[in-house]
Amino acid sequence: MWGPLMQMNRRAFLAGTLAAAASTTAVLRAPRAAAAPGRIPLTRDSRRVVVIGSGFGGGVTALRLARAGVPVLVLERGIRWPTGPNAHTFPGITSLDERASWMNSGLFFDLPTPSRRFTGLLERVQGSGMAIMCAAGVGGGSLVYQGMSLQPSAEVFAATFPAGLDYAHLDRVYYPRVARMLGLATAPDELIRSAPYAAARLFARNARAAGYRVEKVPMPIDWSYALRELHGEMRPSYTNGDCALGVNNGGKHTVDVTYLARAEATGLVEVAPLHQVVDIARDGDAWTVRVERIDTGGVVQEVKLITARTLVLAAGSANTTRLLVRAAGRGQIDDLPDGLGSGWGSNGDQIYTWTDLTESFGAPQGGPVIYSSKDWSDPAKATTVIQASVPPLPGNDRTTMLVGYGVSSGRGVFRYDARQDEALLDFPGDADAGVAGRIHERLTRIAGPASLLLNTSTLDTTTWHPLGGACMGPVCDLDGRVHGQRGLYVLDGALMPGTTAACNPSMTIAAIAERALDNLVRHDVDSVI
Ligand SMILES: Cc1cc2nc3c(=O)[nH]c(=O)nc-3n(C[C@H](O)[C@H](O)[C@H](O)COP(=O)(O)OP(=O)(O)OC[C@H]3O[C@@H](n4cnc5c(N)ncnc54)[C@H](O)[C@@H]3O)c2cc1C
Repeated sequence: MWGPLMQMNRRAFLAGTLAAAASTTAVLRAPRAAAAPGRIPLTRDSRRVVVIGSGFGGGVTALRLARAGVPVLVLERGIRWPTGPNAHTFPGITSLDERASWMNSGLFFDLPTPSRRFTGLLERVQGSGMAIMCAAGVGGGSLVYQGMSLQPSAEVFAATFPAGLDYAHLDRVYYPRVARMLGLATAPDELIRSAPYAAARLFARNARAAGYRVEKVPMPIDWSYALRELHGEMRPSYTNGDCALGVNNGGKHTVDVTYLARAEATGLVEVAPLHQVVDIARDGDAWTVRVERIDTGGVVQEVKLITARTLVLAAGSANTTRLLVRAAGRGQIDDLPDGLGSGWGSNGDQIYTWTDLTESFGAPQGGPVIYSSKDWSDPAKATTVIQASVPPLPGNDRTTMLVGYGVSSGRGVFRYDARQDEALLDFPGDADAGVAGRIHERLTRIAGPASLLLNTSTLDTTTWHPLGGACMGPVCDLDGRVHGQRGLYVLDGALMPGTTAACNPSMTIAAIAERALDNLVRHDVDSVI
């Protein structure tokens, strides 16, 4: 994936922070990524608040702190992905290129993608027993996510989240606030009736016939874009299913065009793309981050040491946890809570292909997602299944995709490996067996006897929904304050208890961040922040 990891110890890190250019050579020894030829400049900076990552957690944090009058620097390793009618910004799902992969880290089976290194959309973080797909780019996972925005029920939430989180308050204030920010809407019937959405109709019909309830999924989408495609007014992006790695035409209310755009409009937020944080350390009463400013090939152009009174980790579950576990392992942050790295879960993700031997799903298949079917009657065993489009397969219009996720009980742990100088995930092979079995049973009933189901997760065990690692309770309080570390916060998927209660994670990550920020603005701004 990356080149040799840098060999900087705590003393060198702090020396780099505190000393002048004399320490430059120690700090730059063996950088993570390829370096630009010649001398790499080292610069130092000081900020009030640094946020690492610009996805849901980072976007909410930037906007709410800025609205409270606090200036914020958001460091994002990826690039901006501007969209608009007929744009070509994102790679098509049928024509994958270097834009799909973060630095050739691989998409399938831990194999590098056959393309040049690029600051692309998806990083594969390979653990033992599980690979995690992590997004990269300004807007984080909202760029590539389908956009399914589900809110857990009170019962499933209570079975999975700490008791101190008041669901009724989240339900009344924070979930609706996120829904408004993301402009959630369900697909119009006119679209669902159209030819490209045959697979969605068949999924709904079969699920109902099997005795399950079916509902339209709230999505952060202005569906008039899809209707305009249908009417020939735009090149297809939704209606041909080519939106699995980003919607070129726009109309998808991603974090960059919602939370971050409003945050930047305050004039108090600077978003710095192509800024990869490679190390964090405590520096007396403050925090120092070591950042590599890279070009789109990953070549380091500049190293920055930025000191801040407040450091917010919002790099996503895997990368926030890796930064913290590595900092603990290297002695760069002393006395981090013992539970750090543990409690990590996959949300039970299972990805299937469904081939119906008697009926056609049509080609192309429109996307991203129209319907879900929830079985939440037993909160400890709740699952949700959905249908998503697949690209046209030559000679095969009978295959589509089914995805299931649910309350999982198995958990993995990130541990520091001194030999590799990296935090590595260990996920027990059978950890998701229970939830996987429940999902399989439901999908078998929905698909019916004249179908072939293939669980691709048994061939290549991956998750799109990494959760936990710096969980609320053992590592942080409910507002994301890391126990015993004044000025250090976790406000992203890493804070979740390894699951988001049978729902896709984004709504809950954003709602819990919104709740936390209300409290932080009230209690921590001007004292800690
Ligand atoms: C293919 C796919 C489909 C998905 N579909 C759905 C869906 O339909 N609904 C749903 O709710 N969820 C979905 N998800 C999951 C959802 O995207 C994530 O749960 C969500 O984005 C997590 O939010 P976050 O704030 O924790 O981090 P992210 O949104 O992942 O943001 C983290 C950001 O931090 C940046 N970063 C990481 N490390 C560093 C570093 N060292 N330095 C600087 N920046 C860094 C990353 O580049 C990224 O932009 C999907 C995910 C994938 C991959």
